Amino acid sequence: MSIQTPPPPTDFIRDIVAADVRDGRYATIVTRFPPEPNGYLHIGHAKSICLNFGIAGEFGGRCNLRFDDTNPVKEEQAYIDAIGADVRWLGFDWGDGALHASDYFGQLYAWAVDLIGSGKAYVDDQSADEIRESRGTLTQAGRESPSRDRSVEENLDLFERMRAGEFPNGSRVLRARIDMASPNINLRDPVLYRIVHAAHPRTGDAWCIYPTYDFAHGQSDAIEGVTHSICTLEFEGHRPLYDWLIENLPVPSRPRQYEFARLNLTYTVLSKRVLLRLVNEGHVRGWDDPRMPTISGLRRRGFPAEGIRAFATEIGVSRNDSVVEIERLEHAVRDVLNRKAPRRFGVLDPLKVVIENYPEGQVEELEAINNPEDAAAGTRKVPFSRELYIERDDFAEDPPPKFFRLAPGREVRLRSAYFVTCREVVHDADGQVVELRCTYDPATRGGDAPDGRRPKATLHWVSAATAIPAEVRLYDHLFSRPDPGADGELFADLSPTSEVVVHGYVEPSVAEIPVGATIQFERLGYFCPDPDSSPDHLVLNRTLTLKDTWAKVQARQSG
Ligand code: ATP
Ligand code: MG
Repeated sequence: MSIQTPPPPTDFIRDIVAADVRDGRYATIVTRFPPEPNGYLHIGHAKSICLNFGIAGEFGGRCNLRFDDTNPVKEEQAYIDAIGADVRWLGFDWGDGALHASDYFGQLYAWAVDLIGSGKAYVDDQSADEIRESRGTLTQAGRESPSRDRSVEENLDLFERMRAGEFPNGSRVLRARIDMASPNINLRDPVLYRIVHAAHPRTGDAWCIYPTYDFAHGQSDAIEGVTHSICTLEFEGHRPLYDWLIENLPVPSRPRQYEFARLNLTYTVLSKRVLLRLVNEGHVRGWDDPRMPTISGLRRRGFPAEGIRAFATEIGVSRNDSVVEIERLEHAVRDVLNRKAPRRFGVLDPLKVVIENYPEGQVEELEAINNPEDAAAGTRKVPFSRELYIERDDFAEDPPPKFFRLAPGREVRLRSAYFVTCREVVHDADGQVVELRCTYDPATRGGDAPDGRRPKATLHWVSAATAIPAEVRLYDHLFSRPDPGADGELFADLSPTSEVVVHGYVEPSVAEIPVGATIQFERLGYFCPDPDSSPDHLVLNRTLTLKDTWAKVQARQSG
């Protein structure tokens, strides 16, 4: 694996694993990442992926990718495929094929029959509402179901008939027989199996009863020899049930569950239910919209996997719930891109410049540095000619104080090219500036003057004749406030400027940048080709601007 993240820090989970290794408690450390294929993975899942695969890698063990596919109504093959692709893109490998909770449906059914046989499970005829209503509250014990004292024979018969499809959805469930007065509501006879007449993406019509998360999860862990079953804190209250099932079933190994705090990010919602609504209601271009916090969205946005892994490492793992500033993710991504992204020239809001003393029809190739942070990245040729584009806001007809860029009569440097001086401003009938007439100094080729004079500004530019037109999608946070939905309606906090489309020009070599690579347009930010591009229509996404605000956020937090 070509993983290049800083050395892994230690945290309370790694400490536990290290102690287990030291005490020789397990032959091999086995973890798993267990997504439910009911949506795309998001940056929160990336935290869990980096933790589970990271620990397996550091301790010479293995991490299984296991689909928690126990609810066929919400799950789809397309999600299974996307999840696999995303985990691989993040840089992780799960060995001999992905696993599925559905692979174990036969074994899970047999164990449910075992539980019934030992009087530890029963078929309940109550409806979902009745079960909920009789479960009690934190301060009040639950009520036992009228079905609770059925004979083993009757339970076995009913459960078999549930499986055979004799009963409609919701008419019966299988419940564990634990304790309706337990202070832990999860132990008040939790549901183990439901009737769901629905085809499953993998098992088709073989089953019409499906195990619940609680019944499938720990047992799947045990089948796979998982040693450390790492999940988020909302499962803490389920751990006694996890342990009860492991103790009361003839499972082949004894996994243990550990919980950590889930990732929350400012300006971001990490809930598959909400993400699905954003997609279905057309607020975004799809699950992989560059504004989505999904791994596929971040990829399309131009975030490198290395930056996401570095972020996961930097935020660490703890048991304290917190909200991480999104600037911190952006900082980790900029850090990678600054080192690795090739520099290019692009102009997003073009203003035409004509160099009057430059020969008509002449084109010369100037040498430009690909990455000042990386000498090995070399140089490239950039065409220069009489007609150019510069950025409209790099010119001011009546420059305010401290505006050092181009203005009438003023000289500036064009990066890697020449010094130019603005001689005349051309307006259209409405008084808009449409063209600048300039002259250049041939002695400044490459960007330095023999007499040592130094203009106060250096501008980026492209040559009009050879530049490629590009649709450029400027992205910003999807939500306009750091705590979306805190005042009520979440969707009212969608930012109207999260995507702004402009039309600019880029240097010819940008056409060779493949989808999946990210470049820096000098002075503007990081950009990447979008898969919507075609040979005659280049579409670019702005990954991030150059302005790193993480230091400012940190100062504000500590100040
Ligand atoms: P959501 O709450 O967004 O619908 P989920 O937790 O139901 O997601 P799963 O597919 O069940 O999604 O998650 C797979 C694994 O990823 C679980 O182990 C879960 O604990 C972990 N996970 C999910 N969200 C986060 C998060 N925000 N931070 C860290 N881990 C997460
Ligand atoms: Mg879940």
